[in-house]
Amino acid sequence: MAKRDLTLPFCSIVAMDSSNFCYRVCSNCEGILPDKSNGFSEFQHCSRCSFNQRTPASKRVYKLLLSVATDKRVMIVICFDKPAKVLMGCSADELFDFSCANPFALEASARFLEGQMFQMVLRKPQSGNAQHMRIDSIVPLASNFHPVIEYLKKLYRT
Ligand SMILES: [Zn+2]
Repeated sequence: MAKRDLTLPFCSIVAMDSSNFCYRVCSNCEGILPDKSNGFSEFQHCSRCSFNQRTPASKRVYKLLLSVATDKRVMIVICFDKPAKVLMGCSADELFDFSCANPFALEASARFLEGQMFQMVLRKPQSGNAQHMRIDSIVPLASNFHPVIEYLKKLYRT
């Protein structure tokens, strides 16, 4: 473990920002793509790898904004794709599609995670501009923890 890491043996999720949970990357080089909402098509030009591949497909990756409480304080942390999959149990694309088909699924996900206990290792951001620590690893403390997608599928009977 690196020196800049911070281990939280016990913490709970207080809140998850359900308004924005992912962003799109090129599935070839993982370079960040502009959001589709500004008029681009699903298969758009990736400026990083366009010379290697004619039509890079895009995929979504997680970027969750979580409020996390320890016995001492509450802080906002960022949860990128790998640890987010531990919480969600599926890819960001799958959750995105589920939330399109099932209104309020993201709000339900946030409510489901609130109050759950985890062990986390946090890492300081590499960029000096970034203000929040990132979750490097996350382990649910409840032995009967089920990822969000399993809960959602039960809730929406899909
Ligand atoms: Zn690319």
